[in-house]
Amino acid sequence: MDKINITLARLRSQGYRLTPQRLTILHILSESGDHLTPLEIYLKARQALPGITEATIYRTLNFLTEKELVLAAHIGSGQLVYEIAEHDHDHLICRACGKTHEIDHIALKSLYEYFESTTGYQIDSVHQTFFGLCPECQKKNNL
Ligand SMILES: [Zn+2]
Ligand SMILES: [Zn+2]
Repeated sequence: MDKINITLARLRSQGYRLTPQRLTILHILSESGDHLTPLEIYLKARQALPGITEATIYRTLNFLTEKELVLAAHIGSGQLVYEIAEHDHDHLICRACGKTHEIDHIALKSLYEYFESTTGYQIDSVHQTFFGLCPECQKKNNL
């Protein structure tokens, strides 16, 4: 069973309907395998569902994010991007050139566990973004 079908099965097992909007957005994110802005998703979704509005895209993305089928990440400048929730990871973003790097969430897991055991909170956000300078931009800065 491929990823998209696992995702769809999860949604159904939770008793949610697979509306054309939900299905289309999940397919778009699954096929692209990348981070997309709501506008990019809207432009692609419009080809499959000509009547769809941007408001529907936002509403559907919120729903899918709540159900943990889709991950949302802040990438700076107030911009949110979305991707299909397939593997837990976090992001490093260079604040000078904007280059992004994916890191495995395993690296943060023990930190989360530490926070949870010391505060009693249950942390449910993976997909964090860290800002810094990439190696190339560090070199440029040192010239
Ligand atoms: Zn850079
Ligand atoms: Zn990501």
